[in-house]
Amino acid sequence: MIKRSFIGLAKPLIEYQAMDVTPLEPQEISIPKKVTLFIDRPYNHRDSILLNIGDQVKTGQKLSYSEDSDAYVISTVTGTISSISSFIGDYGKAYTAISIDVDENEETDDQFKELIEDPTLDTASNYLSGVPGNPCFKIFSDPERPINTIIVSGADCDLLITTNQYVVKAHINAINNGVRVLKKITGIDNILIAVPENLMQDAVASGAEVRTVDSEYPSALPHLMMQTISGQVVPAGKSCEDLGVCFFSTEAVASIGKAFNEGSIPVTKTLTFIDKNGEKTLVSARIGTPVSEIIKAFNVTLNEQDRIIFGGPMTGSSIYSEDYPVQADTDAIIVQDKDHVALVSEYPCINCGECIRICPVNVPVNILVRFLEAGQYEEAAEHYDLYSCIECGLCSFVCVSKMPVFHYIKLAKYELDRISIAEATNA
Ligand code: SF4
Ligand code: SF4
Repeated sequence: MIKRSFIGLAKPLIEYQAMDVTPLEPQEISIPKKVTLFIDRPYNHRDSILLNIGDQVKTGQKLSYSEDSDAYVISTVTGTISSISSFIGDYGKAYTAISIDVDENEETDDQFKELIEDPTLDTASNYLSGVPGNPCFKIFSDPERPINTIIVSGADCDLLITTNQYVVKAHINAINNGVRVLKKITGIDNILIAVPENLMQDAVASGAEVRTVDSEYPSALPHLMMQTISGQVVPAGKSCEDLGVCFFSTEAVASIGKAFNEGSIPVTKTLTFIDKNGEKTLVSARIGTPVSEIIKAFNVTLNEQDRIIFGGPMTGSSIYSEDYPVQADTDAIIVQDKDHVALVSEYPCINCGECIRICPVNVPVNILVRFLEAGQYEEAAEHYDLYSCIECGLCSFVCVSKMPVFHYIKLAKYELDRISIAEATNA
């Protein structure tokens, strides 16, 4: 495998959205009549699962899949389970989808409240894995990859998004509490907060050591942030966790702080909604809210072939149904008019080299793409730096032939992961 150095980074050309003034409160989307929540486990109707259609659930209640599984989701509303089914997400990943018809009167479950006096890693991983910002606690229990540093990212990874910057501006006390809880439950004292320069003063009150990140895309992606903050280069095929560093967003840390401070599990996601005119609004919506409710709240008319994208313009993915719900990591929803959609063309790669010039980690994208198009993923990984890619999406953005290079790369990595998991299981 070629191991590309980060030295000689191409000069980035695109600036992140900066939040200079204290923002207005996000526009609140009303609680919908129905929410859909995903449990990260394929649904199998033969499993004896702990949930049934007709079950009453409360806001903040833990909905577990089965007794032999640690997969769960927290109900974000009070209501009645109306369906349990299989849902296939990006790249064929399977989930269990739980739909809940919402009651008018909201009741909060207090199981979590009884555990807040003495915060532990077990409590956090048993109740807070799906809170806004989507924190991952499993990384602290892997003996082969001990974590010694937590970087709290107050920079938003994609363009046009301001969720994490908003949380720094508006919820610094919750972040401070979250940092204290994280130190206690993980035993890790080395917690840094990384923010754009304009938020340095705000970030001081977080209780974490402040570092700044550049304003140019894609400097807020974890691999590049590692290099800026600690000078560590993540080798190809390795992750930041392999080097003992993990990332939490400021929204995730604020959610942890609020949960242990108030005794209730946060269920409302902050995200940027971008309409067909490019107008951006920060909104808050219950996790599980169908995107159609947000589109309706902004009086956006959807026409045939308009596109809805979950995530930012560089790394987001189109979704095919207006029922698709807001999730714990949905930082942006973009509605694109069909006339502005950059359609994928059928032109082949013309070897113009634009993708190589823009790639921040010097992947030979023009060659890589040929192997990915042919489905030769192992060769792509072995000889053409597939695993050096940090998934910034810039190659797709500049490709004159409009090749979906970034999505080819994601698909290839997903397929190779799937194969290695299957091989490990069989072994
Ligand atoms: S997405 Fe494309 S430009 Fe970005 S790191 Fe990967 S190969 Fe390079
Ligand atoms: S930018 Fe597109 S067309 Fe140009 S070399 Fe890269 S993949 Fe080929």
